[in-house]
Amino acid sequence: RIEVEHLVKDFGGRAAVNDVSFSVERGALCVLLGPSGCGKSTTLRLIAGLEEPTAGRIVIDGRDITHLPSKDRRIAMVFQSYALFPHLTVAQNIVFGLEVRGVARAERDARLGKVAALVGLSEYLTRKPGQLSGGQRQRVALARAIVSEQPVCLMDEPLSNLDAKLRQEMRVEIRALQQRLGMTMIYVTHDQVEAMTMADQVILMKDGAIEQAGSPVDLYQAPATVFAARFVGAPP
Ligand code: ATP
Ligand code: MG
Repeated sequence: RIEVEHLVKDFGGRAAVNDVSFSVERGALCVLLGPSGCGKSTTLRLIAGLEEPTAGRIVIDGRDITHLPSKDRRIAMVFQSYALFPHLTVAQNIVFGLEVRGVARAERDARLGKVAALVGLSEYLTRKPGQLSGGQRQRVALARAIVSEQPVCLMDEPLSNLDAKLRQEMRVEIRALQQRLGMTMIYVTHDQVEAMTMADQVILMKDGAIEQAGSPVDLYQAPATVFAARFVGAPP
């Protein structure tokens, strides 16, 4: 269970994240939804430990991780840009983090085989990222997150570089994997359809604050504001 309490991030000027509190149950998929600049990525980066909060607390399974180094947080993250190493093969990209953490070769190979099969990359392990399609690259990024076997996975607009058809396929795949592996996931998007179809819980943000939180059905059937109604495409 992830608990975010009164989180604030001030870059100087108006706060990018301004008193944000929410919690995500273990094994649930929470979508952070909202327009460009509303503070979604900053919230995710604070949870991942890539930014230091101005105020507030982040607690995972009862443990306060607010000031823990990123590498000790037991969190995997998938970025919009994939951030793959172009000179490494698919296999090397997937296990890179395990190597850094000193996981033994046999264990790395075993996990690689399993995860590659899971995301449909078994045939592509010796290729370089430059020889893959956008969807395949996205799968490598996904595999790299899954292979780390962290209980929490954060994703920042992982599908925004893909075309509409592939996006639809991949969101079904990600949701299925998340449920199958029992991962607790926070998934950032500005795409209403993605939010409504994938989420157990939606946090709608506006100007650094939470506008409304609830299940997709709650938000659609009972939007609290005109902004929320417009954003989820519900009748006002
Ligand atoms: P998008 O959908 O465009 O990715 P977002 O919801 O992820 O938007 P953030 O990237 O969290 O938005 O940014 C929230 C606000 O904080 C924006 O006004 C942005 O300009 C500002 N901001 C983000 N990172 C920094 C930074 N490192 N320094 C200064 N301001 C920043
Ligand atoms: Mg962003």
